[in-house]
Amino acid sequence: MNRDTLILHAGYRPEAGPFLPGPQFASVWATPGDPAPHPFTYGRFHNPTWSAWEEALGVLDAGSAVSFASGMAAAAAVFGVCLKPGDVVVLPADSYYTTRLVASTWLKTIMVQTRLAPTRDNAQLRALDGARLLWLETPTNPQLDVCDIHELVQAAHARGVLVAVDNTTATAYLQQPLALGADFVVCSDTKALTGHSDVVLGHVSTTSEEHLTALRTWRTQQGAIPGPMEVWLAHRSLATLPLRANHQCASAQRLAEFLSAHAEVSAVCYPGLPSHPGHDIARRQMTAFGTVVSFDLATRERAERFLGALALVREATSFGGVHSTAERRARWGGDAISEGFIRFSVGCESADDILADVGQALRA
Ligand code: PLP
Repeated sequence: MNRDTLILHAGYRPEAGPFLPGPQFASVWATPGDPAPHPFTYGRFHNPTWSAWEEALGVLDAGSAVSFASGMAAAAAVFGVCLKPGDVVVLPADSYYTTRLVASTWLKTIMVQTRLAPTRDNAQLRALDGARLLWLETPTNPQLDVCDIHELVQAAHARGVLVAVDNTTATAYLQQPLALGADFVVCSDTKALTGHSDVVLGHVSTTSEEHLTALRTWRTQQGAIPGPMEVWLAHRSLATLPLRANHQCASAQRLAEFLSAHAEVSAVCYPGLPSHPGHDIARRQMTAFGTVVSFDLATRERAERFLGALALVREATSFGGVHSTAERRARWGGDAISEGFIRFSVGCESADDILADVGQALRA
């Protein structure tokens, strides 16, 4: 069956009743006697709303999924189940900033050593010897650099190194790290995967039963559980992921091409542009190039003037939602980018309207 159809139906119940039963709010279930035969007992251990959502995520990722309270809770779970004192983790020097922050705080406290290497040119390859975990993020947030997942997985596995891929910017609809050999795929479901700017969630998927058990145990013990309401909203949103992603990626490509031809813009980062250094890799491992376009307006003043002049597009952080947003990324700190660097999240509006708004704001 076509993958879009499978995603539309993923985790939905075929029997009579609602297509997708509403969220089940329960901290306890009546469980007389021996708890073992009872499918549900206590709300930190399991919940039927999570089960349906995880079944759907499993279809999307081609693995088994564990849902968490946020993308960072999902990332922390992978670190937690893989790393112990004395281990080395190889991180992208240009990863999402908070991931590096976790490495320089919590992981450092528990004596895990971090090696940083850029995503571009698969530079993490040269940092693998003696490592326990290789963490990839491709395309990176916010600079949208790309690395070759399959090549890095081969090199890591040959050295006994586990591989986790943060798949947030692409989502498993556009890129499937488990099929490319990764041990874990991590996603902030807060972004394009759910796409409605109304939930904070994350998940990890794996094809290994051992890792799956370890991740579930981590969630139960650490308690970073998702709320049933968020999970149900997310599941409802997943049905339209193919429609949203196809529309948003096509508009993002148009926006990237438009910006590339614009004199006001000093650089455009989008893997769908043939001039992007990772374009060939992205073409091999992604089915489309994502919903985020980053570009440089060189100075803070020009970036702020641009953002202030946008009429349709809102100034906001995060990305992947149905409404277009943009922000001056350097306002947060932590990334090696210019003061005029804009991260633009392309929504589901008509591409003509987005381009018109961007065009008038660039002229302002
Ligand atoms: N990974 C990437 C690439 C992100 O961009 C983010 C958030 O922006 C996260 C992880 C963390 O996700 P969350 O905010 O859901 O914890």
